[in-house]
Amino acid sequence: MAEDKRTDVNKLGEFGLIRHLTKDFALNQKSSVMGVGDDAAVIDSGDEYTLISTDLLVEGIHFDMVYTPLKHLGYKSVVVNLSDIYAMNGIPKQITYSIAISSKYSVEALEELYAGILLACEQYNVDLVGGDTTSSPKGMTISVTAIGTTGKDQVCYRNGAKPGDIICVTGYLGGAYLGLQLLEREKQIYIEHPTVQPDLDNASYLIECILKPEARKDAVDYFHAKKLRPTSMIDISDGLASELFHIAQCSQVGLFIEETNIPIHQESQLKAISFNIDPLTVALHGGEDYELLFTVSPKDLDLVKFMPDVFIIGDIVEKDQGLKLHTSGGKILDLKAQGWQHF
Ligand code: ADP
Ligand code: MG
Repeated sequence: MAEDKRTDVNKLGEFGLIRHLTKDFALNQKSSVMGVGDDAAVIDSGDEYTLISTDLLVEGIHFDMVYTPLKHLGYKSVVVNLSDIYAMNGIPKQITYSIAISSKYSVEALEELYAGILLACEQYNVDLVGGDTTSSPKGMTISVTAIGTTGKDQVCYRNGAKPGDIICVTGYLGGAYLGLQLLEREKQIYIEHPTVQPDLDNASYLIECILKPEARKDAVDYFHAKKLRPTSMIDISDGLASELFHIAQCSQVGLFIEETNIPIHQESQLKAISFNIDPLTVALHGGEDYELLFTVSPKDLDLVKFMPDVFIIGDIVEKDQGLKLHTSGGKILDLKAQGWQHF
């Protein structure tokens, strides 16, 4: 008897799996402008485009209740979704919020979660318009969908970067990863010695990066005010290197990054070194920063230069030149999508 074929999902990786499962789905509706493969789906709704993005967060995988206050979880779960709408150069307008909860969560605990959701809705001017509530055998699962709009002449995809374009990021990278390492370390100490108080003094910047990130609404507001349309854009959820690969692959280009221009906050520099990790590795591969990575045409260089907290990190080149990192020591290395190098 032939054995049933069974392929481990890890064999394909997350993006390979998504591609594999969705490859037979064509876009048959005239209004479906962009489907799977960008930060949000794009739907033609007449005068403008509607943007839709959805995220799933699972307790134990995406958040740990030992060190995640519920109010922060509510806030962050909304913000990370809005980030995908901003990554399309759009303005988020509504969210739906769904939860599956085990009996360990009380009404009071869920009120905390919703206080965080409310704060994010107020901060980013979005309306909560629906959701679903159900039970879960264990822990909590959250699903958030964000809906936004953008002008048909404003939308930014991952696929529009052209050789000669300038590569920019909206802020410091690596802080969230280091904040998470700090919290994980304190959790281990707590498990082994429950009476020891956590030592998180002087780490408020890093802790805030992981527990209370912000989406870069201000950057998109600037683009709209200045009529500056990036040629491509993506938000940094998985790490700078991984997002650079997405831009390069979708746009069919190569790119060149200057190590010395990659923005790393001083607190991240110090903490990485104290953890014996290369700060550059953290900035390239640590995820969850939710800064925007975008490219602009060289004609828009002056507009970008006057943008608050923007860092110009490199250039788009022809595809055959590959993805390269120019190190501070003067070497030119192949950029890797993943991989941790410890010193
Ligand atoms: P992001 O990191 O920006 O949230 P993801 O990496 O989660 O984006 O997803 C990449 C693309 O794949 C998006 O267009 C998303 O809508 C789509 N996608 C992810 N998972 C699935 C799935 N199970 N079925 C269909 N499309 C999916
Ligand atoms: Mg994204």
